[in-house]
Amino acid sequence: MNALAATSRNFRNAARLLGLDAKIEKSLLIPFREIKVECTIPKDDGTLVSYVGFRVQHDNARGPMKGGIRYHPEVDPDEVNALAQLMTWKTAVADLPYGGAKGGIGCTPRELSKSELERLTRVFTQKIHDLIGIHTDVPAPDMGTNAQTMAWILDEYSKFHGHSPAVVTGKPIDLGGSLGREAATGRGVVFATEALLAEHGKSVKGLTFVIQGFGNVGSWAAQFLHEKGGKVVAVSDITGAISNPNGLDIPALVKHKEDTGSLLNFSGGDVMNPNELLIQECDVLIPSALGGVLNRENASSVRAKFIIEAANHPTDPEADEILSKKGVIILPDIYANAGGVTVSYFEWVQNIQGFMWDEEKVNNELHRYMNKAFQDIKNMCKTHDCNLRMGAFTLGVNRVARATLLRGWEA
Ligand code: NAD
Repeated sequence: MNALAATSRNFRNAARLLGLDAKIEKSLLIPFREIKVECTIPKDDGTLVSYVGFRVQHDNARGPMKGGIRYHPEVDPDEVNALAQLMTWKTAVADLPYGGAKGGIGCTPRELSKSELERLTRVFTQKIHDLIGIHTDVPAPDMGTNAQTMAWILDEYSKFHGHSPAVVTGKPIDLGGSLGREAATGRGVVFATEALLAEHGKSVKGLTFVIQGFGNVGSWAAQFLHEKGGKVVAVSDITGAISNPNGLDIPALVKHKEDTGSLLNFSGGDVMNPNELLIQECDVLIPSALGGVLNRENASSVRAKFIIEAANHPTDPEADEILSKKGVIILPDIYANAGGVTVSYFEWVQNIQGFMWDEEKVNNELHRYMNKAFQDIKNMCKTHDCNLRMGAFTLGVNRVARATLLRGWEA
C-alpha cells in the first residue's frame, strides 16, 4: 500500500472512531493547494537541465502550514501529498499552532555540485515565493536538504519580500536558527521513548536498542540513548550494518562515521547483513531512515517488544496488523518524530520576537511538549479504547476538525 493510501486509511479509521460528520471527513482529506513547478537551471558545464518541484499545502485551519522540503529521486506527488497530510496531524498532536505541508524536488542531490544545488533552490523559491510566507506556509529541511538549503531559500525569498528569517526553519544559527534544532528530532524520539517505557515500568538504562538509519535522526537518538545507559546493539545506514551484543560505543561510532563516511570497518562492532537488522533480537527497534520498511514480508519475524517510528511512515498497514497481533507496541511517527517540528516552532517564535533562547530552555520546552502530547494520546486511547496510532490520529484529527468547524466552513 502506498504512503497516501496508508495515511488516508489511518485518517478514515480515526474519523470513524470520532464519529466525524461525512462532509467534514471529506473536506479534511482534500489538500488545500497542490503546486507543481518546472525548475530549469544551467549545469556547471553550461547545459540546461530541468527538475520538477512540488509543494502540497494540506490544511491551515490551526495556523500557517508547516513541513519539510525533500530532494530525492523518488519524490512524487502522491508521497508528498501523504507527507503533507501527516504534517497536519503531527502539528495538531504536538498542539502547535500550525497546519501541514510538504514539498520536494525530484533530483539526486549527491550528483549535483553545491552551486547547482544553490541555483536549483533559488529557482524553486522564485516559483513558489508568493505561495509561502511567515503566516502562510513555512518550509524546513527534510531528506536531502539542510540548513544551507534553508539559507538559500531565506535569501531568495527576502529579495521579494524583505528580510524574513521566519519564512523557513532549520536555518543556520547565524541566520536565526534555533539552538537545539539540529538534534531536536532525535532528542524528541528519546523523550517519547522514555514516556512510553515509563508507562510499562521500564527505563532506557539497560535495555537494548536497534536503529535503522544513522543520519540526523538516527545518530542523535543513538547518542542520547547511549548517554542514558541504553545499549545500542545494532545500527545501519546506506553503507551497511554493524552490531555488538554488548552495546556499540556510539560516540566512537559517530567519530568513525565522520572520519570515513561509513559505518563499516568500525573496530568496535561486527558487520551484519542489513536485511536482518529489523528482525534482530532487541527490546526497542527504531526505524530512522525510509518509509515502508516494516511490511508483510518481515513483520512476523520482528523480535522487538517496542517500535518507535522515528522515520515517517516506516510501518505499512499490513505490518501494523501483524505486529499488533504479536503484541508489539508501536509508537507512531506523528508523535514519535514530532520533536523536529516542535523546535522548528520554537525557532519561528524566536524569529518573530527577534529574541534567542538558550539551549537549555529549548530542550526543557521540548520535553514539556513531548510529555504533554504523550498524555493527550493516552487519554484518547482510553476514551476510544484504541492503540497508540489511533490515539494519536484521533487526537490530531479531532483538533483539526474542531478548528475547522469553529472557523465556519460555509462558502
Ligand atoms: P538523513 O538523510 O539525515 O539520514 C537518513 C539515514 O538513512 C542515513 O544514515 C542513510 O544512510 C540511511 N539510509 C538510507 N537508505 C537506507 C537503507 N536502505 N537502509 C538503511 N539506512 C538507510 O535523514 P533524517 O533527517 O535523519 O531523516 C530520517 C527519517 O526521519 C526520514 O523518514 C524523515 O522524513 C524523518 N524525519 C526527519 C526529521 C528531521 O528533523 N530530520 C523530522 C521528522 C521526521
